[in-house]
Amino acid sequence: MYPVQIPTFDCAGKTAVITGAGSGIGQAAAMLFAAYGANVIVADISEAAAEKTAEVIRRNGGRVHVISVDISQSAQVDRLITETVDHFGGVDIFVANAGIGGAVLPLLEQTENEFMNVISVNLKGTFLCAKAAANQMIHQGRGGRIVITASIGAFEGGGHHGPYGASKGALVTLVRTMGREWAEYGITVNAVCPGLTATAINQGLLEDKALAESLLDKIPMHRMAQPEEIASAMLYLATDAAAFITGTTLIVDGGATTGG
Ligand code: NAD
Repeated sequence: MYPVQIPTFDCAGKTAVITGAGSGIGQAAAMLFAAYGANVIVADISEAAAEKTAEVIRRNGGRVHVISVDISQSAQVDRLITETVDHFGGVDIFVANAGIGGAVLPLLEQTENEFMNVISVNLKGTFLCAKAAANQMIHQGRGGRIVITASIGAFEGGGHHGPYGASKGALVTLVRTMGREWAEYGITVNAVCPGLTATAINQGLLEDKALAESLLDKIPMHRMAQPEEIASAMLYLATDAAAFITGTTLIVDGGATTGG
């Protein structure tokens, strides 16, 4: 027997809420957390999409419940927490993953409405989710794990994704404050920053072969991430293996932000 504590990724008995779990990265995370034994709340603005994710988890014997939510609406976020508590008895892990890309336009052509729409979902909605989850975790008194999906767009700017990059940059900053303020309650808060990942959010880009190739050229591994490669970073940050990590950011981008 090695004289070290062996970390476990087991989530048995834990309840994990995952927003944006009807598609892409959130869907992969919901399945992965379920595979590791968590009770999973599949939360999404699209109930039909969430149901599809839940169906796969049910078929594999997982414990799952669907809640439709628009994360930009505080009353709906509060209901997400109360319904989770009613159904599974508490919240141990919250993955605030839902987000939108917004219009791909130079800043001079971005409208106030479009700007506010992106900020309202990606920044305000994620703040509302993390705050509601933290309040519930503090009430339970046994700590918790919050994982937020930011993006390498937080660091890069450019690419005609101004509002999106700004919203994700703000999340990287917010995570530092949350990590600091909620450490005393045993809650860790970290961000995952995915690079280009093969999901619906990139549908248009995937269809434009020339654009896709030019983006892949900037990635040393010369490929997109698969959603489960982002989900496994989320799982790590949500388990005891990452117990001493808080207020920080894990970049999962195949080396895209290494410069050069
Ligand atoms: P996706 O479009 O496949 O999934 C996003 C999900 O969020 C959808 O199911 C959608 O219905 C849901 N959603 C959208 N608005 C919502 C709202 N207001 N309330 C609740 N649910 C809502 O995209 P994805 O690529 O899986 O994106 C997940 C997260 O990863 C997002 O925050 C995105 O910004 C981030 N991200 C993605 C990439 C990428 O290349 N795919 C890169 C970096 C970061």
